[in-house]
Amino acid sequence: MCYVDEILQELRRQNPAQPEFLQAAQEVLESIRPVVARNEAAYRRDALLERLTTPERCILFRVPWVDDRGQVHVNHGYRVQYNSAIGPYKGGLRFHPSVNLSVMKFLAFEQVFKNSLTGLPLGGGKGGADFDPKGKSDREIMAFCQSFMTELARHVGKNTDVPAGDIGVGAREIGYLFGQYKRLRNSFEGVLTGKGLPFGGSKARTQATGYGLLYLTQEMLRRNGQEIAGKTVAVSGAGNVAIYAIEKAWQMGAKPVTCSDSTGWIYDSQGIDTELLRQIKEDRRERLTAYAAARPGAQYRQGRGVWTVPCQVALPCATQNELELSDAQALVAGGCIAVAEGANMPTTLEATRYLQQSGVLFCPGKAANAGGVAASGLEMSQNSQRLSWSFEKVDTKLQSIMADIFRSIEEAAREYGMEGDYVAGANIAGFLKVAEAMTAQGIV
Ligand code: NDP
Repeated sequence: MCYVDEILQELRRQNPAQPEFLQAAQEVLESIRPVVARNEAAYRRDALLERLTTPERCILFRVPWVDDRGQVHVNHGYRVQYNSAIGPYKGGLRFHPSVNLSVMKFLAFEQVFKNSLTGLPLGGGKGGADFDPKGKSDREIMAFCQSFMTELARHVGKNTDVPAGDIGVGAREIGYLFGQYKRLRNSFEGVLTGKGLPFGGSKARTQATGYGLLYLTQEMLRRNGQEIAGKTVAVSGAGNVAIYAIEKAWQMGAKPVTCSDSTGWIYDSQGIDTELLRQIKEDRRERLTAYAAARPGAQYRQGRGVWTVPCQVALPCATQNELELSDAQALVAGGCIAVAEGANMPTTLEATRYLQQSGVLFCPGKAANAGGVAASGLEMSQNSQRLSWSFEKVDTKLQSIMADIFRSIEEAAREYGMEGDYVAGANIAGFLKVAEAMTAQGIV
């Protein structure tokens, strides 16, 4: 049996109840087969793939907190510190009821390769809790964040592990987490990114994942003789990534016509009103029914359905496995020519295969949504220098990072005989740098 198959078999045996982690590991390991084949003896001797697929550290902890009525609740907190070969662990915190060890490990594993692709010195990690921020008061959110950080603080630090936001963790939560860290450590340092602008945050960090997604989509389309301008775009999600993807799509001359949340979705034939959506989701924290009520002509439907809308470009920006095989078939039937993942692993393996086989340009999340962590890396640089760069400076760097990422994944795919397969290109390019660093640092 070849080395990759042995590792896949072993991972299934060791992690039988971790489907998301196994899915992410399988996608990466399948892609790097040609690289492993060229170096099999050395990689086997050093147990490189065993070390790559085993997190350096998984921290699990209790998060007790008191609600506004005096009732005590207990949630499960996690931080997976996956790989620090090329820099301090870096990756977001997710607060969502679906969080468990499998989800944390899949996200941290993906983050290792994503961070490598950015070209910045960032290792990979991820964390969070099975806490549901929906319906909680500000005081309850603060109580939860303070309790969460009271435990997390002993495991993170500006040179060790620098978390950021993810689903359910935005500017408000990062502020509370930062305040508690500072209080516990008596140290004002860049231990988190996505901070507010008055206390060390970077301009353009809020926009970076969504903007970066569009910069990369534009690169991919141009390299294939197309332009984003004039295209109809279907977007899922209505959070940080989706809102700024929609904003940048408009700025580039495209027309985004959909968005969604966990209860329903919007089709707006006039194109999504970005400012209305931003107010509803960021300021008022309301459901998408409020969008339909405020916008004549927009249609709200319950459940799933974004991918049934005919479009040329699809940008899944909500959560993992939200784009299934039947959705991919609907997209192809509706004339879609490109899919770029704003969320992490939103497309199932079967749907990805179908899209690629149908000739749809497909860019995986670890490349397409790397703009967020790239801007976080730039926030760390500014914190270290005690400087604050202009929006334009960060945005310009972001554009060049996304263009470099696309070039590197395109070249890696070509070098290994899989031209146009950007999934393989991203996994190979991300892996090569991490593998080289791990090899150079010895058996650790
Ligand atoms: P937000 O919490 O801001 O928004 C998430 C959006 O997705 C919300 O509209 C939410 O709806 C919807 N959603 C969440 N879970 C589900 C579900 N199970 N079914 C349907 N819809 C769901 O998160 P972000 O925008 O920050 O993150 C979105 C994705 O992008 C995630 O996969 C994240 O890992 C990824 N990502 C984020 C980065 C960032 O910088 N923020 C960077 C790179 C990747 P509702 O409000 O109803 O829950």
